[in-house]
Amino acid sequence: MLTFYNELHAQHRGRYEIFRGEMVPCFEKPERVDAVLAELGRRGLGKIVTPHGVPLMSLERIHTPRYLHFLRTAWSEWLALDPANAGKDAFPAVWPVRTLRDDIEPDNFCAKLGLYSMDSGTPLTAGTWTAAKTGADCAVNAAHALRLGQRGAFVLSRPPGHHAGADFFGGYCFLNNAALAAQHMLDDGAKRVAIIDIDYHHGNGTQSIFYGRDDVLFISIHADPRSEYPFYLGHADERGEGAGLGYNMNLPLPAGTSAKAWFAALETACIRLGSFAPDALVVSLGVDTFAGDPLSRFALQSADYLKVGERLAYLNLPTAFIFEGGYAVKELGTNVVNVLEGYETAL
Ligand SMILES: [Zn+2]
Repeated sequence: MLTFYNELHAQHRGRYEIFRGEMVPCFEKPERVDAVLAELGRRGLGKIVTPHGVPLMSLERIHTPRYLHFLRTAWSEWLALDPANAGKDAFPAVWPVRTLRDDIEPDNFCAKLGLYSMDSGTPLTAGTWTAAKTGADCAVNAAHALRLGQRGAFVLSRPPGHHAGADFFGGYCFLNNAALAAQHMLDDGAKRVAIIDIDYHHGNGTQSIFYGRDDVLFISIHADPRSEYPFYLGHADERGEGAGLGYNMNLPLPAGTSAKAWFAALETACIRLGSFAPDALVVSLGVDTFAGDPLSRFALQSADYLKVGERLAYLNLPTAFIFEGGYAVKELGTNVVNVLEGYETAL
């Protein structure tokens, strides 16, 4: 297992986030990746590789040029509003919902923030672009390694990616690393790539990016969006559209779901993955399904993550694991590395 990692992830460090009406310390913080890196070192699970930077063109395969330009320039625009903003993170506060127009990019930076975001829970900071770009580099490098014959690769980056769409951020995510990895493999000659998203939250960004396509199968096992973030996508009746009809599978489960029911959903997902016969697999690896996670209400225990990795290994596919959510920092290293070790051991 090759791990792609760059310490520049720590450049994205939100001061606080808005959570249930309060300003609270960020759940999504550099210590999350530090914990996983330390555990990888303890268990000696293969080489850690610093990725090389990929051209912006690679990112434009998934994200719109307009959105990428916004992300690259956002911090300087924030400072241009008021130099005192250097001491504050940027948060959106107005959105172009339904009857409002989203086809014209406003000049006002606060309005741009709303145009390119889906919630107010995701601080944009001085180092956000650097960290997100580095994560995208890791994802594309991992995909490239699989195409060169590597069996397993792990993208140890943050901020996470699966809530980010082609032209918006949210849910702590800015660039969709899983989508970038899948697209890179297709561009490099793969015929079909599957993505399985096992984060507690539905991967709305990834779904929306591939919704009309039949060369990427997207499957997500997540908490029912009626009660859990991202709320407005992730229902079982979303099956894809046009050529993509039948290539999107959502397996929402009620909050409080047992580990047994969760593994039954994983089995359903794996059967569909097998019938799709992809050339490679991308795993959006969130471990906020853990019983002790502060944001979530599933019930997996640390030992269960070994079984997750084992089951995915039986699919017998080149696999890129992309780090997504998981906020119980103390157990985070154990839970993530258990998936990787389960995968390696079963190969
Ligand atoms: Zn999550």
